[in-house]
Amino acid sequence: MNLPSVDTLVASDLDRTLIYSAAALRLGADDARAPRLLCVEVYEGKPLSYVTEAAAALLDGLARTGAFVPATTRTRAQYGRIRLPGPVPRFAVCANGGEILVDGEPDTGWRERVRRAVAAECATLDEVRARLVATADPAWLLRERTAEDLFAYMVVDRERLPVAWVKELTEWAGERGWNVSLQGRKIYAVPRPVTKSAAVAEVARRTGATCVLSAGDSLLDADLLLAADRGWRPGHGELAETGWGAPHVTGLETAGVAAGEEIARAFAEAVGV
Ligand SMILES: [Mg+2]
Repeated sequence: MNLPSVDTLVASDLDRTLIYSAAALRLGADDARAPRLLCVEVYEGKPLSYVTEAAAALLDGLARTGAFVPATTRTRAQYGRIRLPGPVPRFAVCANGGEILVDGEPDTGWRERVRRAVAAECATLDEVRARLVATADPAWLLRERTAEDLFAYMVVDRERLPVAWVKELTEWAGERGWNVSLQGRKIYAVPRPVTKSAAVAEVARRTGATCVLSAGDSLLDADLLLAADRGWRPGHGELAETGWGAPHVTGLETAGVAAGEEIARAFAEAVGV
């Protein structure tokens, strides 16, 4: 395959890092000073995710350099709904690293490699899903889903979700080679070899990039941030709440969609656009 060479990759999480649902925007009290927003995702005919107008311009510039690699836990179908400004990135990481899209098409070699590693090291998706279904309480479980036949997630009522249940699940899953992450209304259970960092390292290898910049807000982004040369995390989310940090990762104070704009600006400055 003949691919363009780039020195730097900007491999970033999307949800609650660069793009924000209405519930995650945190626009502040002064309506007259709220930033103008661009809708970048429509779901079932309704606007779902946004960036600020300023972030849109920065992301457009970034995409034009060819350095931008979205790195999301979304499935391919969920990723396909997002329409960020600028050209469609050559590479995208979906399913938390379980899939690499090249020009929109899944890379079957990568997919097989990940699935072989999961089969060798982890309890099966069926076993984990059975545990989730058996122990979750319908009082707070809203929906239960699997993604790309690779991992499981549940949509929950956060107000009613017992912290102890999450802790127990995390321990049980950990003994079976799975990680658990709680993000907004979703709890993810993901096999340990399925990581954004591994997929981004593969993209770096293919493009010849020698420097990776990254950003993310959740525990599923920690490996991506740790593997990067420089990183940023917003002032909200699992990482901020747990006080997670690393010397090369900037922890922003800003929360909500304004943090997304700040991260996009940091990326643009670092890449020189
Ligand atoms: Mg996120």
